[in-house]
Amino acid sequence: MDHPFDAIVVGAGGAGLWAALELAREGVNTAVLTKLYPTRSHTGTAQGGVCAALGNLEEDHWEWHMFDTVKGGDYLVDQDAAEILAREAIETVVELEHMGLPFNRTPDGKIDQRRFGGHTSNYGEGPVRRACFAADRTGHMILQTLYQQCIKHGVKFFDEFQVVDLLFEGGEPDTGGRAAGVVAHRLADGQLHTFRAKAVLLATGGFGRMFRITSNAHSLTGDAVALCYRHGIPLQDTEFFQFHPTGIVGIGILLSEAARGEGGILLNDKGERFMEKYAPKMMDLAPRDMVSRAMYQEIRAGRGIGGKDYVYMDLRHLGRKVIDEKLPDITDFVRVYQGIEPLKEPIPVQPTAHYAMGGIPTNTDSEVVRDDKGTVVPGLFAAGECACVSVHGANRLGTNSLVDLLVFGRRAGRQMARYAGKVERPLPIADAIEPVRAELEAIRSRAAAGESVATIRAELQDVMMDNVGVYREGKLLTEALAKVKELKGRNENVAITDRGSIFNTELMEAQELGYLLDIAHVTVASALARTESRGAHSREDYPERDDKKWLKHTLAYKGKDGPSLRYKQVSITRFEPKPRTY
Ligand SMILES: Cc1cc2nc3c(=O)[nH]c(=O)nc-3n(C[C@H](O)[C@H](O)[C@H](O)COP(=O)(O)OP(=O)(O)OC[C@H]3O[C@@H](n4cnc5c(N)ncnc54)[C@H](O)[C@@H]3O)c2cc1C
Repeated sequence: MDHPFDAIVVGAGGAGLWAALELAREGVNTAVLTKLYPTRSHTGTAQGGVCAALGNLEEDHWEWHMFDTVKGGDYLVDQDAAEILAREAIETVVELEHMGLPFNRTPDGKIDQRRFGGHTSNYGEGPVRRACFAADRTGHMILQTLYQQCIKHGVKFFDEFQVVDLLFEGGEPDTGGRAAGVVAHRLADGQLHTFRAKAVLLATGGFGRMFRITSNAHSLTGDAVALCYRHGIPLQDTEFFQFHPTGIVGIGILLSEAARGEGGILLNDKGERFMEKYAPKMMDLAPRDMVSRAMYQEIRAGRGIGGKDYVYMDLRHLGRKVIDEKLPDITDFVRVYQGIEPLKEPIPVQPTAHYAMGGIPTNTDSEVVRDDKGTVVPGLFAAGECACVSVHGANRLGTNSLVDLLVFGRRAGRQMARYAGKVERPLPIADAIEPVRAELEAIRSRAAAGESVATIRAELQDVMMDNVGVYREGKLLTEALAKVKELKGRNENVAITDRGSIFNTELMEAQELGYLLDIAHVTVASALARTESRGAHSREDYPERDDKKWLKHTLAYKGKDGPSLRYKQVSITRFEPKPRTY
């Protein structure tokens, strides 16, 4: 079936929904496709907050926010984009408030704000209250608010439609083709549909599922990211993957940094507040890459709890009122999953794979670019975690992702509306579904004796966690590269047992495993090539940041035998790179 629209948004998280809302307000005929029900998007699990320099409780300025973002990203951030982020954060948060989002309030009725890692006053003097929040359910409230607005403005939703290919007119993107739509697999009956449009936004979120221990939902498999790569669009900076310091031990479910923002502290086996040694000024509110490394160092020195591979987060001194009003959900997770009462006992925590700083390269209007000169793929847009604009550089600060969704989701919607007003709708493409149909059919019809999805995925997640985690080195990365290639080979023979077409989730998972393998391949190759330590990419064999050689973005293109790497300049407008201490 063919569905003609003017704009298509793939993904109903915060980025996709705000773009769709903007398009609908401009009167553009828009469809949102999502493989999950919209309100199940991962944005709904975001706990801690969304930052904006409102200055409601203490002095704050967007310039300070911009500086923190650039320094937090270890100077790999594109500063033109960071300036837009910090400036427009303020108006987008106020707009959300006007849409009715129930933020926590100060006694005099303003939006309440709390501290978060790496957010400082006066260019690094000390912590500042910049994160706006609705208890520890900020993302949930954002998602509900935006979804209501989209419904109100008549956006059309295609729920449980999984996009499995991108369509181009006039050739592939590298020869100047323009986006023409997508092919989607309707999960309810297994049928393939084409959606044609002038402008297509990719907003499919992250890909943390390539790691064994992760805070990410099962659905975060980097679908659009891998599809772009397969169509010759490079992936930017995938070697920078954030490990959040405080995951629930063993399962990785997140305990928001808001816990430390409200005064929680990390302790080692000796009961020492060890962050004092690593970040004397910011302590437990240092950025995530530094806290995760400090935890590993304590564990390696035998100061993990009972000599094991975790430390404690202590909230006992916060008292019942703060916990119940500001951290209700995460303390409930602790009670449910760990059987621990956070008012009385410290909580065992360990780093968990959390956030992709890299992704599909875009410019500040959220248009996808395909080379180091900023050449745009006409009609193709990306925003949110799947995109790399790049405001997070080598390490994202807490609360800077939600604001990235708002700012660049909104910019995407506006730019798509402008673009759609200028061009004709693409014509139907003959046999558009054929390549995907053949691919899915091959998996479905293969003898059940083939490789299992679960086995290959588990081996991938193990090698990524053990060899491409918080600390990396050449030998381990080389091993990981060989392993990923081996798994890709075995994946050619992947087989499933469900031959049906109704809600064939096994088929969907096989498809998603292919995406994860492609992105893992790019991640490992990019990490092996980058012989320095910067932000979340920490090489034990190259422990220093090397601005002379490596102050540049990676662009990984699909080559014949794997990724082929090129590089792109970083935009530096206000802040020259300096050593990064906290
Ligand atoms: C547990 C947790 C807590 C977090 N807390 C915070 C926080 O407090 N503050 C902060 O700033 N950041 C936080 N983050 C990060 C932030 O929430 C995410 O980066 C952000 O929500 C991603 O939003 P998105 O719009 O890019 O995509 P998502 O919200 O992940 O949505 C992706 C959408 O794409 C759809 N999709 C995916 N693939 C396909 C496909 N093939 N076809 C069709 N649809 C598809 C899905 O159905 C979904 O609708 C947190 C992340 C996690 C995991």
